[in-house]
Amino acid sequence: MDLLSATLPTPIQQLSNKMTEEAGVKLYIKRDDLIHPTVSGNKWRKLKYNLLEAKSQEYARILTFGGAFSNHLYAVAAAGSVLGFETIGIVRGEEVGDKPSLTLQFCQDQGMKLHFISREVYRQKDSHEFLQELALQFENPFIIPEGGTSEFALRGVAEMVPEVMKQLGEMPDYFAVAAGTGGTAAGLLSDGANVLAFSALKRGEFLKDDINALLKHHTRIGTLELITNYHFGGYAKWNQQLIDFMNDFKRDFDIQLEQVYTAKMFFGLFDLIQKGHFKKGKTIVAVHTGGLQGLLTP
Ligand SMILES: *Cc1c(COP(=O)(O)O)cnc(C)c1O
Repeated sequence: MDLLSATLPTPIQQLSNKMTEEAGVKLYIKRDDLIHPTVSGNKWRKLKYNLLEAKSQEYARILTFGGAFSNHLYAVAAAGSVLGFETIGIVRGEEVGDKPSLTLQFCQDQGMKLHFISREVYRQKDSHEFLQELALQFENPFIIPEGGTSEFALRGVAEMVPEVMKQLGEMPDYFAVAAGTGGTAAGLLSDGANVLAFSALKRGEFLKDDINALLKHHTRIGTLELITNYHFGGYAKWNQQLIDFMNDFKRDFDIQLEQVYTAKMFFGLFDLIQKGHFKKGKTIVAVHTGGLQGLLTP
């Protein structure tokens, strides 16, 4: 997209160590963390066609949703200031205390207007009437759902599949990805990739229905394996074991992960590899979905 210049294709690197050798699997990391300095990782891919649509329909402003530590709000605020859209962030939860999160601080610095609503009201974020009210209140913005997840998002994410096939010369047996709304997993599945989706949230079983709903109008869908037991207590929760893993990963591969999504995904993936989950000779592409601005600051 020349709207927001990005590094494409993002690099792909093989990760090999004693564990991958013993398991006989070929593991790669897709460096979407390097895609753009502020519109990072999967958020860039999910926003691409949303932003192109908003531009072509000549919208002046974009409205979207997220929590106080949302990488999506961060990306929309950054993209808006680069592309000249006004941005409005509908934030879940009344502002606690008088100190906004670093993420919300960044959003405000980029010119995003923040509008705080209670968790209860926030639950209506997909209801037609509520969206109409917001459209009236905020003067007809282009509305992007929470996490950027929409049909436009799937289309953007799906572009990673041919990109990887070109880099590897073959379709990998699996893509591994962290899941919040499941939009990224759905995008990969929509282009026929087999996906291991690692829930970053507690009780992530609901993601299966959400992902299937997103894929309703798609054919040629890959196989989804949803993994829900590496959430470390829930969204944005972690423990010392996860931080140690993240530091070991940095030391071994010189690649920084973050504790909300990507460290949980790699922790789970390494555990599955060690437990013999994958047949010898299989190829796995684990996606570094970015989010590094949230490193240890949620
Ligand atoms: C938002 C985010 C995810 C989750 O993506 P979904 O499409 O909502 O499942 C994963 N990793 C990072 C770094 C993110 O910022």
